[in-house]
Amino acid sequence: MPNVLVFAETRGGALRKVALEAVTAARQFVDAAGGGEVHAIVFGPAGIAGKSDALAQHGADAIIAVENDAFSGYPRESIAATIADRAKTGGYRAVFLGFSAQGRDLAPRLGAKLDAPIASDVVGVSAEGDAIIAKHPAYANKVIVTLKVTGPLAIVSVRPSAFTAAPNAKSARAESMQPSADPGAERVKVTSLEEGAKGRPDLGEAQVIISGGRGLKAADGFKIVEDLADAFGNAAVGATRAVTDEGWRPHSDQIGQTGRQVSPQLYVAVGISGAIQHLAGMRTSKTIVAINKDKEAPIFKVADYGIVGDVFEIVPALTEAVKQAKGK
Ligand SMILES: Cc1cc2nc3c(=O)[nH]c(=O)nc-3n(C[C@H](O)[C@H](O)[C@H](O)COP(=O)(O)OP(=O)(O)OC[C@H]3O[C@@H](n4cnc5c(N)ncnc54)[C@H](O)[C@@H]3O)c2cc1C
Repeated sequence: MPNVLVFAETRGGALRKVALEAVTAARQFVDAAGGGEVHAIVFGPAGIAGKSDALAQHGADAIIAVENDAFSGYPRESIAATIADRAKTGGYRAVFLGFSAQGRDLAPRLGAKLDAPIASDVVGVSAEGDAIIAKHPAYANKVIVTLKVTGPLAIVSVRPSAFTAAPNAKSARAESMQPSADPGAERVKVTSLEEGAKGRPDLGEAQVIISGGRGLKAADGFKIVEDLADAFGNAAVGATRAVTDEGWRPHSDQIGQTGRQVSPQLYVAVGISGAIQHLAGMRTSKTIVAINKDKEAPIFKVADYGIVGDVFEIVPALTEAVKQAKGK
């Protein structure tokens, strides 16, 4: 029966949504493989163990806390060395983690340290005998590739929001572990951190994204997008590359092949044509709503709901409807 180790990602001393999604994916794999344990390893400042109960609520059988104030950030060399040591001695079939910025950095480090194969950006996982069967989108999300991963230990990174964090309460054992390498002696140090839009969720974590394109005409046009996001309350704002290249929005808002890849519950595309490079970043969203005055716009091919019309008329009306529905 395979056991799986999960890197439970934190930021600023708090668990991230992708940590619970990775635990959910690991649980699904372990159950599909006939049972086994899911062990979540969490790095954070003193007290992180006490803030990790959600991992047990989502299916972790053990929570291994590695506490050190340097883990408020992401000391990559220390984290990679510690996970690799645990993976070597714990008899695990796989290490699961998010395909987030941290996960993209960490997975190859673990692959190299453990001489293990990596399945990246995974949106579905199951078992076939001793093999891990992983599905991941390719060619700008136009096809889903099925990978069969063999060998004693593998690294599996899961796409943020592809697995819905599912409650599955366990009475998890608590363990603590010392870091294998001093997190204060990193050769790569973060010297500054520039925060994105304040007061809005991160694009990778948001359940609702309102995204704007060149159809908004100018930076000021984004006011209607911001208003709709405010009406939802918990929505993030995204943009096309045409928009970020114009300087209407920061590059951190860009969604697509060369921007962020997102899979929210709801993606509202406002004045976006639906170029293949944009679709590459959002077509796996659960529900897509597109508003465009051109009924032939390619965005309508991937949309679940399409509204043909002028964004400056439609979006304020939608904002009012959302406010009313939410009793605002
Ligand atoms: C190598 C490469 C990488 C790229 N990476 C990315 C990427 O990561 N992300 C990305 O987004 N793009 C990317 N692009 C650019 C991409 O090809 C498109 O140019 C871009 O996505 C178009 O942005 P847009 O939809 O905002 O603008 P447009 O294509 O100009 O579309 C604007 C749309 O708004 C509609 N519209 C106009 N006025 C109104 C109105 N009043 N009401 C309603 N609708 C209106 C129009 O009908 C049109 O469909 C990349 C391109 C290359 C070559």
